[in-house]
Amino acid sequence: MTRVSDDDLKAGFATRAIHAGQRPDPSTGAIMTPVYQTSTYVQQGLGRHQGFEYARTRNPTRDALEQNLAALEGARHGFAFASGTAATDMVLKLLSSGDHVVAGENLYGGTHRLMTQIFARLGLTFSFVDTRDVERVSRALTPATRMVFVETPTNPLMRITDLAAVAEITRARGILLAVDNTFATPCFQRPVEFGADLIVHSTTKYLNGHSDMVGGAVLCSSDEVAAKLQFLQNASGAVPGPLDCWLTLRGTKTLAVRMRQHDASGRRIAAWLEGQPAVRRVYYPGLPSHEQHDLACRQMKGFGGMISLELGSLARARAMAETTRIFALAESLGGVESLIGHPATMTHTSVPKEMRDAMGLTDGLVRLSVGIEDTDDLIGDLDQALRKAEQA
Ligand SMILES: *Cc1c(COP(=O)(O)O)cnc(C)c1O
Repeated sequence: MTRVSDDDLKAGFATRAIHAGQRPDPSTGAIMTPVYQTSTYVQQGLGRHQGFEYARTRNPTRDALEQNLAALEGARHGFAFASGTAATDMVLKLLSSGDHVVAGENLYGGTHRLMTQIFARLGLTFSFVDTRDVERVSRALTPATRMVFVETPTNPLMRITDLAAVAEITRARGILLAVDNTFATPCFQRPVEFGADLIVHSTTKYLNGHSDMVGGAVLCSSDEVAAKLQFLQNASGAVPGPLDCWLTLRGTKTLAVRMRQHDASGRRIAAWLEGQPAVRRVYYPGLPSHEQHDLACRQMKGFGGMISLELGSLARARAMAETTRIFALAESLGGVESLIGHPATMTHTSVPKEMRDAMGLTDGLVRLSVGIEDTDDLIGDLDQALRKAEQA
């Protein structure tokens, strides 16, 4: 099992992003970990090998990525998967039939689907609660509860969960706290530092950052939980290929500088949007008008490039989303290029309309993933699209 070294955990974030888990290749000195595009490894004799037997179980490129991601989260162990969804699947497979999970009500749609349409059928039970209110998490616990699963900030409403407060509850009960940290990234929020046991990522998003692969990861510090995850990773088999691991590693090297720019543009654009007559409401944890801004400031070091805005009607949302030129209309987020999306018809169609409306996830809501292009160009693009929305 790969274990992050003390040295790797001591370095600053940007240094870790570039060096943690990365050693010059032992056979040639290549400074970059090669893409070990192989399924198997020659053994010296029966039971004699260099630690690598079959590539589902272990691959050196994947090892390098797993250590890198664990170090970024301040965790000891990392496990890479073929998608963020496969990573979440693995976390839920730590549980057994009859176990109960308390989950956030505004989780990523695919996570909600995995829980309610697959794991519920296999005997897990779930309570979905508004985890902004820690009391509701407490009240939802039953003697069968084994895990609390949250996202913070949530997609697309940017609700914040107080990680330290929830960890206090889960620690007292001896149950696991899993946090999907895809939106904030370890650059801006490290749940391990607040007491989370399991960190889940869709590396497809900010960690890779270049929209050229799909992947996921689970990070943890407990040796006991890590041993179970290692077994599950090999036994379930949803591992990423070495080229995708390599692309993700190439992405994490620039994570610190990319996030700095996403954050700078995100803050400026969110503040600018608040002053636009066509915009009824802006959801961005970095704005003082965000109802949990103080908590966000305590828990996060930056707020990134995810912004949602309420335009008041489907017609206006459509006009804006179909008029931007730099912001491309597409699902996903976290890449260097800016994207615009309409949650009600794109990412959140599986959530029933009454539930969407009750949450504020209306037909007039538009979501931006602010990339790292010139901020003035991005504002210019949004400006012309908002004018069009006003006429709709
Ligand atoms: C995209 C996403 C996922 C799912 O990841 P995939 O790589 O698409 O499988 C899970 N959680 C969040 C917050 C996401 O944005």
